[in-house]
Amino acid sequence: MSDIDGRALAKAIRAEVSEAAAKLRGEGLAPTLAVLVPTDDEGTAWYVRSIKKAAEKEGVDCRIVQLEAPGRDEIVAALQELSADPAVHGIICQTPLPEGVTLGEVGWYISPYKDIDGANPESLGRLAQGRRTFAPATSAAVLELLKHEDLVLEGARAVVVGRSTVVGKPAALLLLNESATVTVCHSRTKDLAAVCREADVLVAAVGRAGMIGADFVRPGATVIDVGTNPTADGGLVGDVDYAAVAPVAGRITPVPGGVGPVTTALLLRHTVQAAELSRSHG
Ligand code: NAP
Repeated sequence: MSDIDGRALAKAIRAEVSEAAAKLRGEGLAPTLAVLVPTDDEGTAWYVRSIKKAAEKEGVDCRIVQLEAPGRDEIVAALQELSADPAVHGIICQTPLPEGVTLGEVGWYISPYKDIDGANPESLGRLAQGRRTFAPATSAAVLELLKHEDLVLEGARAVVVGRSTVVGKPAALLLLNESATVTVCHSRTKDLAAVCREADVLVAAVGRAGMIGADFVRPGATVIDVGTNPTADGGLVGDVDYAAVAPVAGRITPVPGGVGPVTTALLLRHTVQAAELSRSHG
């Protein structure tokens, strides 16, 4: 078994971002990410600050737009304003959203050109059609990690546990677009462990600490753990029972240090790509 080092991959991606951002700046274009924050949740504030810090370190400007107790209309108005602002190239609408508001609903108001975290339903549609688009960064991180390992995805059996619009479904579509044979599991899947054991590539995106045990994993399989579950002592664990699965898996992403850092790096890469694209669509 070997760990897949998400931190090292993130560092390499961020070095590329830094170079591309410096080039754009040299041409008079400052790549800019805007993060709309419609909540005063402290955990979210910490995460958003970490994105800003990472962005600015690589030469990407980051504008945090904090909304105090907004409703749907205020969120939509803010997203429309950012979408129309030529100085903004990438937009994230941070969750959680206020009760009764869904990302699928307000995501429509993020310009697809600036939708660097794949929140606009149009982006998911384009992904389903295999067309060029920004996939949600976490799902893109899953694929980036697999490609970095030089895994042959064509014809491989991939099982994704979780069918959310932000992680499970786009990860499944990305794998399908690579010609993997993809099964998507969820809370109603019967005999989950047996289905998972068929996988050459197993992606866990559930949000249940340690639920994927050794009996879910075919010996030698590659396991990507998307789960981030807080522990009582302030730490973080994945959906995979790492200690039990690591001796069985061929390769495995740790939590923390796997999908998370690559996700942040890809948000920055997507922003720089969106800035580059802005020159052709005005
Ligand atoms: P979500 O919207 O709550 O979706 C969870 C999915 O897991 C659902 O499809 C659900 O099935 C399925 N599920 C729940 N219990 C299950 C069970 N016992 N057996 C099989 N499937 C089950 O969560 P999410 O937003 O996709 O996030 C998933 C995990 O990824 C969370 O831990 C989250 O914190 C983490 N995450 C990490 C990053 C990162 O950058 N590392 C980014 C985003 C999310 P149903 O559809 O049937 O309810």
